[in-house]
Amino acid sequence: RKNDRESMMIVNSFAQKYFSEKLLQSEEGMAVGMSYLRERGFREDIIKKFQLGFCLDSWNAFSEQAIQSGYKKQFLVQTGLSIDKEKGLIDRFKGRVLFPIHGIAGRTLGFGGRILKKDPKAAKYLNSPESEVYHKSRILYGIYQAKKSMVQNDKCYLVEGYTDVLSFHQAGIENVVASSGTALTADQIRLVKRFTNNMTIIYDGDPAGIKASLRGIDLVLEQELNVKVLLLPEGEDPDSFSRTMGATELSQYIEKNETDFIVFKTNLLLADAKNDPVKRANLIIDIVRSIAIIPDNIIRSVYVKECSSILNVDERVLYTEINKIKGRLQ
Ligand code: ATP
Ligand code: MN
Ligand code: MN
Ligand code: MN
Repeated sequence: RKNDRESMMIVNSFAQKYFSEKLLQSEEGMAVGMSYLRERGFREDIIKKFQLGFCLDSWNAFSEQAIQSGYKKQFLVQTGLSIDKEKGLIDRFKGRVLFPIHGIAGRTLGFGGRILKKDPKAAKYLNSPESEVYHKSRILYGIYQAKKSMVQNDKCYLVEGYTDVLSFHQAGIENVVASSGTALTADQIRLVKRFTNNMTIIYDGDPAGIKASLRGIDLVLEQELNVKVLLLPEGEDPDSFSRTMGATELSQYIEKNETDFIVFKTNLLLADAKNDPVKRANLIIDIVRSIAIIPDNIIRSVYVKECSSILNVDERVLYTEINKIKGRLQ
């Protein structure tokens, strides 16, 4: 088992180097993959820092090369780099730009592959399948490149996608990781907690992003991290939004506009609730539920105070509610 894991990582490492070389040095890679990335505005230093790659638009160019270089079919299939068909091995990531997904130590555990042409029938991104080395619920994209800056700044930005991470780095902000489109998990938050206790969620400015932020808040509170949220203008994601910004401008914007979860929920829901007493009450209950999740008494009391003053509700009333909820949780 342990040997299998190691063999799979060795195959992934070979694949990462092979795909990078194709992107940077092959005619097709430069004409197709690099052009795509350059058109999107990604700089070469960022492309190299994240070891991006390209899988030729051929059924099996990669698989053939891997077998010829002595890698075993078993591990090519187990990592999902190759798919075992009757006719032989075919390349999973054919024609895609590849984002290697690194573990904390910088080893390649899997890949995300982006399609280059608009094709309604094909998935925009294709990821490595779950395996002994790639567990998507335990991985955060960018953690290897972010960890030093996360410690230095005692803070972590959480975004949705690969390109969001790249664009932040390009703007000069390195303490950023992506949940890569999957629902955030407790394991992922614990990974961040090894480096910092402060997280700001910056998801896409669309209904899905808002919904995911709300869900993320409760999970992060449960793991005893401080959580803030930045709501981007509608239609923007961290990649598109940070495109034209430098590090100072971007971090100043974030600092000015990020809010703690109570203000985030209040702004979001109060616009709708206005002076309707029933809606207001529901908003208070919603916020109280999040506060009740916080395990630490002192931190919880700080938020109770804030909630009490923002929404003008007596603290004792809030505590009564919280104790009721906690009673039910036990
Ligand atoms: P791009 O800017 O290249 O369009 P994005 O990151 O903005 O990419 P989103 O649609 O916002 O793309 O999705 C966020 C993340 O969710 C992606 O970066 C990717 O990790 C994941 N994702 C998106 N679509 C898929 C898919 N069809 N299959 C698997 N993962 C996906
Ligand atoms: Mn989105
Ligand atoms: Mn997006
Ligand atoms: Mn995007």
